[in-house]
Amino acid sequence: MFYKNGNTAVILCSDGTKIRYIPDDELPQPVRPESIDIKITNYCRNNCWFCYEHSNPNGQHGNLNHPILETLEAGTELAIGGGNPLAHPQLESFLSRMRSKKVVCNLTIHQKDYVKNKQYIDEIVLHRFVNGLGISVGDIDDNLQIHDDIRKRVVVHTIIGITPVSVIQKISQRYKVLLLGNKNQQPDIAIINEIRNYITNCGDMVEALYFDNLACEQLDVRSLIDDNTWKSRYMGDDGMFTMFIDLIQECGYVSSVDKDIGVSLSESSTIRDVFSKIRQSINRV
Ligand code: SF4
Repeated sequence: MFYKNGNTAVILCSDGTKIRYIPDDELPQPVRPESIDIKITNYCRNNCWFCYEHSNPNGQHGNLNHPILETLEAGTELAIGGGNPLAHPQLESFLSRMRSKKVVCNLTIHQKDYVKNKQYIDEIVLHRFVNGLGISVGDIDDNLQIHDDIRKRVVVHTIIGITPVSVIQKISQRYKVLLLGNKNQQPDIAIINEIRNYITNCGDMVEALYFDNLACEQLDVRSLIDDNTWKSRYMGDDGMFTMFIDLIQECGYVSSVDKDIGVSLSESSTIRDVFSKIRQSINRV
């Protein structure tokens, strides 16, 4: 899929790879978010002690029929999470609507919820209602087994300082792994060093390792790779091409970590409006 976004051009490949062209000597001026992290519910029964979102069995669902979601455009990637997004009663119809708008939906769930709903999840991934599946392992190692048919479209989510390094090492031998920064606290230096050594010594031998921006910062990933690799792989600061929506609060933010300035969804008529206000707020800081 190809689309223009302000002065940038974006090619989105079917395997999830994104290529972005920005004219030489110009700063990127995107007019719409390339990807949105969206929290659709605060309901979850897993009670993880490290839950940054404080999701719980009494958590509320957001409104997946909110009119602003109809203004999402083809090619926009949605990272749908919660809480437990599978518990949201409007999820299925939402995924169906978004698929017909060519919005690219990715879903993140906990491995316990994957195991409980394996057949259903495998089907919605196979039938492309969900393009990419994130499975969070948290602090447990339940010997994750993912069906071969969807394996290439799964990324296992781990958290620095929460997921044992031995589990990160083991899982990354078989599956693509995303390392997320620790939003609760700065991880222990011994853990940071252990992961940095693993990246340096084994990074070429694993399926694939990805990092969110907080993980890049906490692990100082920049110091581990050469300039060209960094330039070609780093996808930009939070809020540059991306944003976060808390659908329970009906508010948009720079990211799930940076919530200093919230943009109310009800005071904006389109996603472009919300994104523009978020970008303006970053530029003012
Ligand atoms: S599974 Fe995720 S949303 Fe649920 S309690 Fe654990 S960390 Fe929170």
